[in-house]
Amino acid sequence: MRLTGRRQSSNVEDRRGMSTGAKAGIGGIGGIILIAVMTLLGGGNIGDVVTQVVQQQMQGQVQEKTNGKTEFTTEEQELAEFSKTILAGTEDVWVQQFQENGMQYQFPTLVLFTGAVNTACGNGSAAMGPFYCSGDQKLYIDLSFFSSMRKQLNIEAKGDLDFAYAYVIAHEVGHHVEYLRGILGKAHAKMARLDKTEANKISVKLELLADYYAGCWAHYDNEKYQSLSDGDLEEAIDCAEKIGDNYLQEKAQGYSQPESFTHGTSEQRMYWLKKGIETGNWNTTTFAPGELD
Ligand SMILES: [Zn+2]
Repeated sequence: MRLTGRRQSSNVEDRRGMSTGAKAGIGGIGGIILIAVMTLLGGGNIGDVVTQVVQQQMQGQVQEKTNGKTEFTTEEQELAEFSKTILAGTEDVWVQQFQENGMQYQFPTLVLFTGAVNTACGNGSAAMGPFYCSGDQKLYIDLSFFSSMRKQLNIEAKGDLDFAYAYVIAHEVGHHVEYLRGILGKAHAKMARLDKTEANKISVKLELLADYYAGCWAHYDNEKYQSLSDGDLEEAIDCAEKIGDNYLQEKAQGYSQPESFTHGTSEQRMYWLKKGIETGNWNTTTFAPGELD
């Protein structure tokens, strides 16, 4: 990505190195269950783009990082600045898009944390991966997630993974856009009335829609700033493939169970991200008419 000279968002709370009193290090299957419970309670959305894949690896890092460490490496500082720049890009794009559609965009806050964090949706942990909480309209990211993502996903890229990282942030902002449009609230209310298999189908559509909105953001960000470089599209598509539920489950256990999918298959995630980047038409939705009523 070309980001030189771009502004950074000030809608950021830097809580790195702060202790929350919450127990950190939720790993493996526990994290998945916690997310499911938090989502189904309807208190807010825990939308995590690559949650499952990095949980195991994050666990070790979480414990190292909860001892009040407040000094950051150059890489961590660069990632913080990068995240603020991408967030600013989403603000510019969504303010304009909402305006053009007669709506007003409300800025979400990006919370940077290490280890564990208190949110309006309950206690969050780095092991859960980045997530969005509609209860406080904040996106939560432990920046060590990005290095875990790089290792775990083993994403082939010619250069850096900046656009794949931007996709992660834009996906969480995508959940915020869902929230502002009233989609998230309706979807959670519907999920609470359904059994788990049917609720998972709604969850998949929410995640694919967040992927789609991330793509729409990239479309307009590129139009405005010529931010995409050669290989960026392929990089994000490759990332989308490797965070598909089928891909992750097959990698983890040798087979996949479609009824347990919560984020969509590799094919679906690639399809929606790419379609968003190509069209920028964010009035398209992954839901059928009346599906959330
Ligand atoms: Zn999500």
